Amino acid sequence: MPGGNTRTVLHVPPFPLTIVRGEGARIWDADGHEYLDFLGEYTAGLYGHSHPVIQEAIRHALADGTTLGAPNRYETQLAAAICGRFPSIELIRFCNSGTEANVMALSLARAATGRRKIVVFEGGYHGGVLYFHHGGSPLNFPAPFVVGDYNDPAAAELVDEDTAAVLVEPMLGSGGAIPGDRAFLQALRDAARDHGALLIFDEVMTSRLAWGGLQEVLAITPDLTTLGKYLGGGLAFGAFGGRRDLMELFDPSRPDALPHAGTFNNAVLTMAAGAAGLTQVLTPDEIARLNALGDRLREHIAALGVRATGYGSMVGLHDVEHVFFGMLERGYSYARRGFVALSLPLTEEDVDGFADALAAELA
Ligand code: PMP
Repeated sequence: MPGGNTRTVLHVPPFPLTIVRGEGARIWDADGHEYLDFLGEYTAGLYGHSHPVIQEAIRHALADGTTLGAPNRYETQLAAAICGRFPSIELIRFCNSGTEANVMALSLARAATGRRKIVVFEGGYHGGVLYFHHGGSPLNFPAPFVVGDYNDPAAAELVDEDTAAVLVEPMLGSGGAIPGDRAFLQALRDAARDHGALLIFDEVMTSRLAWGGLQEVLAITPDLTTLGKYLGGGLAFGAFGGRRDLMELFDPSRPDALPHAGTFNNAVLTMAAGAAGLTQVLTPDEIARLNALGDRLREHIAALGVRATGYGSMVGLHDVEHVFFGMLERGYSYARRGFVALSLPLTEEDVDGFADALAAELA
């Protein structure tokens, strides 16, 4: 692996810690040090580590085999659970990552509209080939992207008769946990409708922030939504879905069906783990409890004079990169750029401990 790495975001010079075990909200590195996990696998670790219900679901499915080459009994459970949570998702398709979900949603938008142009936003991250920070990544897939300013309602003027889709995170995740203004997102909704373009909400990270995702909080209905992260119960996962008339284009019984295969789209363990998480672990009350923990953390951090952004259980710390290694030494792990995603096993005591450690480091 180049530089010993297969996942750029995890690299920390001179080298990152190797984590060998996780349980609840705690992780242990290869040298035996224990940390409270405030990274939560960039939101994919919502359930915490080794959740017994999810582990049991995986064990149960594993016993019957994992590469069955056919529809399995778990994919309908997961599809029903997700469609039941997000009313805008009338039909859904699974894939293997958030990146793939966004590529598929954009490709669907281009096929359905017959147009090519895609409007995205500065600071947006939608995957390894859809990264729009500081002019965009050289690896971005070859589409005519137009990059607007996030939270600038005037950016809606970029949407025109050539636009296939507007792809936007309702809160910038990797871009610093910056919530989207309702007026900005509504302007995109209106412009897309007026010009016959599709509005795609990337809720790969943000779907965890409310039972119906941030689209429910904002009361804005996108045409398509992309999902990922924790919805696979901690295993590799992605999904895209939305308006029935659009998603029905994939119905393989149609003579003109759009093809979308994918060996592991219905991976048995992922489907089973995801369904167990959504039907047996996560509840609206648990989401509210975790969001309140995030509010508590933001309040503590702001009281230290540090800028703390985000919404609910996703927290962005700003301009404190210098305390990262000190926080690790004090037993608190999170993303060096200041990203925190809380997981269900964390407690108020844990959150207060994080803030106390940050205060001591800053002092
Ligand atoms: N969209 C958003 C908003 C994300 O935060 C991410 C991952 N951080 C992705 C898409 C890509 O998901 P994956 O890493 O599963 O490809």
